[in-house]
Amino acid sequence: MREDSGQQREYQRCSNCVMDTSDSKIRFDENGMCDHCHNYYENILPNWHPDEQGQKELEKIVEKIKKDGQGKKYDCIIGLSGGVDSSYLAYYAVRVLGLRPLLFGCDTGWNLNVAVNNIEKITKGLGLPLYTEIVNWNEMKDLQLAFFRSQVPYQDLPQDHVIFASLYNFAAKNGIKYVLTGGNNSTECVREPIEWVYQNDIRMIRDIHKKYGKRPLKTLPMCGMFKAHIYYRYLKCMKVVKILDMIPYTKKDAIVTLQREFDWEPYANKHFESIFTRFYEGYWLIRKFGYDKRKCHFSSLVLTGQLDREEAIRILEQPPYDPGQAMQDLEYVAKKLGITKEEFTEMMEQPNKTYKDYKNTSWMIELAVKVSRMLGMERRQYR
Ligand SMILES: [Zn+2]
Repeated sequence: MREDSGQQREYQRCSNCVMDTSDSKIRFDENGMCDHCHNYYENILPNWHPDEQGQKELEKIVEKIKKDGQGKKYDCIIGLSGGVDSSYLAYYAVRVLGLRPLLFGCDTGWNLNVAVNNIEKITKGLGLPLYTEIVNWNEMKDLQLAFFRSQVPYQDLPQDHVIFASLYNFAAKNGIKYVLTGGNNSTECVREPIEWVYQNDIRMIRDIHKKYGKRPLKTLPMCGMFKAHIYYRYLKCMKVVKILDMIPYTKKDAIVTLQREFDWEPYANKHFESIFTRFYEGYWLIRKFGYDKRKCHFSSLVLTGQLDREEAIRILEQPPYDPGQAMQDLEYVAKKLGITKEEFTEMMEQPNKTYKDYKNTSWMIELAVKVSRMLGMERRQYR
């Protein structure tokens, strides 16, 4: 494998997926195939069993979940966002596996109506109540504005972290041992490079907030690496179960089932569950940093045979959403965060930064990923 270095790297796109040199550490072999693809064929695919083997594994774990949950109101918990993966997971867990999950939603103040409606349709359809954690909006807003001011690329970090932390903290507090997640190889086998998507580092969150925030974060749910990976996992015996990797799962079929069963409504692009995410992925990240998150997502779909590579390239040539809509969203986001359109635009012109410009615990996250890789819990490229 050849590794190019330096600023002047020539543009190259993988000959097999659609990842390219906007992932600055990507490497290509002599045929132009990238290391995400090699990792998929050599590391992920041989260990991924949405077949009989997966079925057996699933039966075993489901039996254990049911046994451990005897006499309890719920035997597991599912974080429901209204997107395809978590909606299908809820459907499958209840209707197919006969589990009794507590459905958990987190309202960060940004959900699109379509997502909220989907959540309602799923919970009503399954006849289950929904527990929604409503995040303190003033604190959320303050942290999000601090993040924009910090000029780091990944602006979904505050919401992502709060959603993740609220679910885990809630499960731990209520003695729920099994967290079912919609995470899956089928739509996420190519992991976003950390230069663009750096997650779950509360040291960095606190440092950025200390520098740019205005009000104390008293109630915002937080969950650091130690708490999630050591305290919850080993002392509270919490287990994360990725059911969608043990069954045949494709986005297209999942949507058909969800529409048939719940009149569920799809929305454009994965993760466009809120105007905020739409704006940050479709505008901030692309305009300021030149990174298009669709490349990772489409590459996952190409590798798993759910999207034709030429079709993916054709879609990537189009902006992720209408430029007029982007301007409307900019105004909406700015207003909601309490600044003017002009202030936001001015802020966007400041120099770009990365997580390395702030206090962080990247060494600890890297270590946790290394351990996860050794245990076979994480097989994607991490860099
Ligand atoms: Zn590739």
